[in-house]
Amino acid sequence: MKGLMIGVSGVRGIVGMGLNPEVVLRLGQAFGTYLEGGRVIVGMDTRTSGPMIKSALISGLLSTGCKVIDLGISTTPTLQIMVEELKADGGIVISGSHNPSEWNALKFVRDDGIFLNANEAKELLNIYWQGSFLQAKWNEIHEVEKFENSSEIHISKVLKILDLDLIRKRKFRVAIDCCNGAGSIITPEFLKELGCDVIEIHTTPNGFFPHNPEPTFVNLGEISERTVSSGCDIGFAQDADADRCAIITENGEILSEEYTLTIVSDYVLSYKKGPVVCNLSTTRMMDEVTKRHNVELVRTPVGEVNVSEKMKEIGSVIGGEGNGGVIDPRVHYGRDSFVAIGLILEYMAKECKKISEIVKKFPRYYIDKRKIEFPRRRMKDLISYYKEKFKDEKINLDDGIRIDAEDFWIHIRMSGTEPVLRVIVESRSKKKTEEIVNKLLVEIEEMKG
Ligand code: MG
Repeated sequence: MKGLMIGVSGVRGIVGMGLNPEVVLRLGQAFGTYLEGGRVIVGMDTRTSGPMIKSALISGLLSTGCKVIDLGISTTPTLQIMVEELKADGGIVISGSHNPSEWNALKFVRDDGIFLNANEAKELLNIYWQGSFLQAKWNEIHEVEKFENSSEIHISKVLKILDLDLIRKRKFRVAIDCCNGAGSIITPEFLKELGCDVIEIHTTPNGFFPHNPEPTFVNLGEISERTVSSGCDIGFAQDADADRCAIITENGEILSEEYTLTIVSDYVLSYKKGPVVCNLSTTRMMDEVTKRHNVELVRTPVGEVNVSEKMKEIGSVIGGEGNGGVIDPRVHYGRDSFVAIGLILEYMAKECKKISEIVKKFPRYYIDKRKIEFPRRRMKDLISYYKEKFKDEKINLDDGIRIDAEDFWIHIRMSGTEPVLRVIVESRSKKKTEEIVNKLLVEIEEMKG
């Protein structure tokens, strides 16, 4: 079924074309059985399918004897934090994240606020496929508790790590594009707490996305214009569940999402030394930043949980993903656009610099991210081919193949949820990146067999 993908990184699908209440109900039953009852936090983004999915999900959870705490509309980081705050046994995020309106998805959170890792997810999926679920008796069914203040709790945790006086004094003017997603209410409130004059773009939480919610170049023309025309110091664009964000400079330049983690890391490392974690698909600017601050950079396979677990293991001070997702363990081990926005404003305030000036501190790289359909069974051959072809370069095989040459790098990996290859290339010149990508795509096309 093409409209539904069930894998270790969660379940996602197109509403009405695979993702339906029957599937969701069973996932609720499976998660409740996996937790053996217990307290579960449920939250959703603004998609029109949210309430339909939530009802089915809660039904499944209650039928296994779980206690459900419903946050209503909630960003993904808010939900992750609330699982920890309320000492729940787990949580489920209902959000299609950066995917268009017709999509929705479920992501499962464990009791420490981190997503299930691959082994845990496999265990959950086994329960799902086997279909033997716990069944609570009539007197074991709990009520659903509504929890209203999750946004305030989340914001206050982020504010605690910031130098509020410093940021407020600058009275920044900030444009924010929430894409009518889960950040629509909480983000302007957060910025006002930071003393900002807020120019709101698409902050009606109705799930009708005015553009594709992926915070990348093609989707951010409007905020770029508004940032300049409203005389803003900076603009931010979130995806629909507000774990990721991209930056727009005061000149209207839409920065690649790769800059978000780079800038935040550079800032945090200036006052707090320690190892940094990012995934294998993240920009080489991260190597430069960590070198500059003389700390270690550890790269993990793609997937937020991989970064979170590694950060916890090695006591990392900052980490995340090049797709605009920043993780600061002082708040929690999950990607959080509020952490990113707060720390970037603080960096500008502290250095008395414009965002365009801060950007100049980093060497310019050109990254190209592609996806191409590819049969999983051919993956082994593809890896052997490139291993041989680039045998003189540094090779990492933790997640597909990453090749690190002197003036470029390539990461090719199979998507966790779809039969597609992700191909990422970065180099110091636009032309070179283009040349490498085009060559790879031709070679890969031939390898499909
Ligand atoms: Mg997201």
